[in-house]
Amino acid sequence: MPLTLRIDAARWRAHQEVYVATAGGPSAVVPVVKGNGYGPGRAVVAAEAVRLAVPAVAVGTYDELADVARRVAPADVVVMTPWRPGQAGSAVLGEQVIHTVSRLEDLAALAASAAQPRVVVELLTSMRRHGIDPAQLAEVVPLLDGVRFEGWSLHLPLSRTDPVAEAVRLGALARAHRDGPLWVSHVPPGRLREVGGDVRLRTGTGLWLAGHHAMRWTATVIDVHRLRRGDTYGYRQRAARRDATLLVVAGGTSHGIGLAGPAAAVMARQRAAALARGALEAVGHVRSPYRLDRAFLAFAEPPHMQCSMVWAPPGAAVAVGDELDAAVRYPTTYADEVTLM
Ligand SMILES: *Cc1c(COP(=O)(O)O)cnc(C)c1O
Repeated sequence: MPLTLRIDAARWRAHQEVYVATAGGPSAVVPVVKGNGYGPGRAVVAAEAVRLAVPAVAVGTYDELADVARRVAPADVVVMTPWRPGQAGSAVLGEQVIHTVSRLEDLAALAASAAQPRVVVELLTSMRRHGIDPAQLAEVVPLLDGVRFEGWSLHLPLSRTDPVAEAVRLGALARAHRDGPLWVSHVPPGRLREVGGDVRLRTGTGLWLAGHHAMRWTATVIDVHRLRRGDTYGYRQRAARRDATLLVVAGGTSHGIGLAGPAAAVMARQRAAALARGALEAVGHVRSPYRLDRAFLAFAEPPHMQCSMVWAPPGAAVAVGDELDAAVRYPTTYADEVTLM
């Protein structure tokens, strides 16, 4: 009785292959294998990365490293969370791993270790997430002798600025100090060549999800209750305001359902007032991601851990075991079952 993600494998892979070819081939693409694996899960996207024969993938955190490294070996694994002193230790200093370094003191610490770790040096961009100030480039260069330098890394914003222009500008600045590959994010694959030289695109959303028409999420109906006006239901024992069908469907907070404050089908002001009272459910019409006959169903109360209660019309033709389409947020949702068909 699961929350299911079915993937049309042929269609998904056709999209991935076009994406990789557009970027310039497997060595130009660094598939990102992090978090919930963009919906399919890290194991599934790691296997796709292996199929694409890329020389390197990227993970979000050190916690994700061991599992992904094993799945994609012998491909390299770049850890995108910057290395910090507490990370030292044999487990993270393996040959397959490329560390991201974002502060001079961390680069100095790694350079001083005997391990000669592989590193990319991240420069601060207009994103202002992590990175060494480009004004400090001259101080970076002497420290590179103590590590195995694998290139420069840039994390670029999605909008307002031109990511290509910023990549070209910072790339030229960095390469004037030390030549090497440039690892970038958020450059459209068709424009990667404009950046110039050995450039590698870290990509998750574009590679895995732009072909999301290949993916379909469904939630199994686990129970159906026909309620009369006044019948009580749920943890809060509220009374039904009219005759209705109460559906218990797969997918709850543990799957990431409803955590993001679902779009309300009510006036924003009413919803704000309900939120202020800490009683979103009191409004009674918070849109769920589940659809029956294409209409979004309202949550009857906030999602439970493994399932959700939603309203359907009183005579709705729906039975236990049916599957409802679910319009979930891919990067925050965990499926019980992922099937490649
Ligand atoms: C997540 C991430 C990416 C990939 O971003 P998408 O938008 O999924 O392509 C690239 N670089 C860094 C540093 C990231 O954290």
